[in-house]
Amino acid sequence: MMLIKAFSVQFGRIMSVIRSDLYWRFARPGSFRQRFEQAVTNMSHGICLYDAQDRLQLVNEQFCRIYNQPMATLRIGMSFRDMLANSIAIGNYPGQTTDQVWRKRKMFINQRQPGTFIQELGDGRLIAISHQPLLDGGWVATYEDITERRRAEMQIKFMAEHDALTQLPNRVLFGERLEHELAAVQQGGSCTLICLDLDGFKLVNDRLGHTAGDMLLRQVADRLRMNLRDNDSPARLGGDEFAVLLPQTEVTEALAIATRIGDTLRCEYDLGIFGPASIGASIGVACAPDHADAADALMSHADSALYVAKHSSSAIPHLYDAQPRRNPVHRRVVIDKSCGPEGPNDGLGALRTAASMVGDLRAALQSGRLHLAYQPVCDCATTDIIAYEALLRWNDLIRGNVSPAEFIPAAEDSGFIVPLSAWVLRRACAEAASWDGQTQVSVNLSPLNFSQPDLVATITSILAETGLPPERLIIEVTEGVLLDRSLVVQGTMQGLRALGIELWLDDFGTGYANFATLRSAPFSSIKIDRSFLAAGPDGTTILGAVISFGKVCGFKVIAEGVETAEQLDLLRTLGCDCMQGYLLGIPAEAKDLPDYNLPYN
Ligand code: C2E
Ligand code: MG
Ligand code: MG
Repeated sequence: MMLIKAFSVQFGRIMSVIRSDLYWRFARPGSFRQRFEQAVTNMSHGICLYDAQDRLQLVNEQFCRIYNQPMATLRIGMSFRDMLANSIAIGNYPGQTTDQVWRKRKMFINQRQPGTFIQELGDGRLIAISHQPLLDGGWVATYEDITERRRAEMQIKFMAEHDALTQLPNRVLFGERLEHELAAVQQGGSCTLICLDLDGFKLVNDRLGHTAGDMLLRQVADRLRMNLRDNDSPARLGGDEFAVLLPQTEVTEALAIATRIGDTLRCEYDLGIFGPASIGASIGVACAPDHADAADALMSHADSALYVAKHSSSAIPHLYDAQPRRNPVHRRVVIDKSCGPEGPNDGLGALRTAASMVGDLRAALQSGRLHLAYQPVCDCATTDIIAYEALLRWNDLIRGNVSPAEFIPAAEDSGFIVPLSAWVLRRACAEAASWDGQTQVSVNLSPLNFSQPDLVATITSILAETGLPPERLIIEVTEGVLLDRSLVVQGTMQGLRALGIELWLDDFGTGYANFATLRSAPFSSIKIDRSFLAAGPDGTTILGAVISFGKVCGFKVIAEGVETAEQLDLLRTLGCDCMQGYLLGIPAEAKDLPDYNLPYN
């Protein structure tokens, strides 16, 4: 724009000199005119020169190209008004009359001030028009097609303000919108900030890879958009953190929206070739002006409510509690979906002290409230016990018995699974070392444990410490471990085998393992998930096929979830090697094992 201005100023001066007699006396007119014409014809901008009576004095080809006007339709001396009428007839000013455009432009010209404005043509192109008054009362206008430049500028602006993966506003733009909304709140009204964090996203990334993780994040963004109103602003703040700004929204409505978002995000995702995936979502909510009227404070309150949500066992959004109590806690508002348009149930029963599941689990570990239960794995033909599976039990003072299916994923998410697994391994090895005989003990490890480079060293020292021979230890892990092809995971599996420890594939048939990967993995046994047996007579053919498949691959086959004598008979008929289930023994504490009587023989 500066260049155009400078050019226009210079041009105005040149034209004034050209018109003065003084110049023509000293110049060689022919050669100058040629050079001048060349310059005007070849300049990148369109140009029109008008005299003091608004009559066209000069126009170049570039102007005609920009406005799609053939040179033949223009003539020196025609009025500016006629020029506009021509242009309007071609469709360059959609929806405007000659009078309207002429009056607007004339006002500008009469001010006798240089200036630039942008005109949008009928075909969407943007033209920057710069006016420069001349000394003799005339004026010159230059025209530049800035469509591409504008598009690039807008693209750059969009990229600076949006997340490239999800196209959602980023932290910068979201911060601006929040500030803007809070300024409006100062004048009355309210707004709500929702902070969101995905639970288990890291697992999807680790197990299925970043392409799958990216697909999932894009779908999360789509689901957010779908659940919001036109004026609401979603954003991706980074990683698996999202936020939503709800302008002019009271807490009741905001909590209903937050609950709906959470429910939607927890539905299964279709990741194409990577298969289905599920994640959780923790949600924290803070309102302006009730909780804060400054952006930083509101953000920090929504964040701390999110923290509470993240570490609680429930999927309910948490509302920041503005009233710190003796023991600062956050209030959990339970949305009772059956309670109708009133929304949240604010009664006493709905207020519960939120506490971090992982925090409580850590405390339980430190205070000795965790223990192991052992469940026998038996030979199908003889029902002899070949091993006991160690299953972690947490009896919490407030929560009661918490299922490992609930707390293990939370421990995985937070990384607490590493010290937790070390404790389980140490305890199981120590207890098994004290048993009479050679019965093996199997310990469940999470696929995440296998990506810890020091797992083999940790187990080696636990075996040395407890005196359990490596051959008596079995590690169970699910198919998820096979999705991580990293050298660390493969090295860990080989390292454990090299020590003489057995590896069993747990819950076979529920994961993603393919035939080739499975065959090359160093498992000695596969445990067929109990859903196959639970399918009843309809599933017998499939169960038979899975057992045969396991045996063909060279694995010992163990069936999980054997509850009835009929199921045991079926397994014997199908040639299954071993079994585990309530029929043969429920999980029991180590001290009760010697008295363990098998109910069926
Ligand atoms: P899993 O390793 O497949 O363990 C077997 C689960 O099936 C146990 O549930 C067990 O109580 C249950 N079960 C055994 N027999 C029967 C039966 O006949 N019928 C039925 N319906 N269920 C039966 P539990 O103890 O709740 O453990 C659930 C899962 O939690 C385990 O599945 C395992 O994946 C995980 N888990 C348990 N302890 C640990 C641990 O120390 N570390 C890790 N990483 N995961 C663990
Ligand atoms: Mg297991
Ligand atoms: Mg299992």
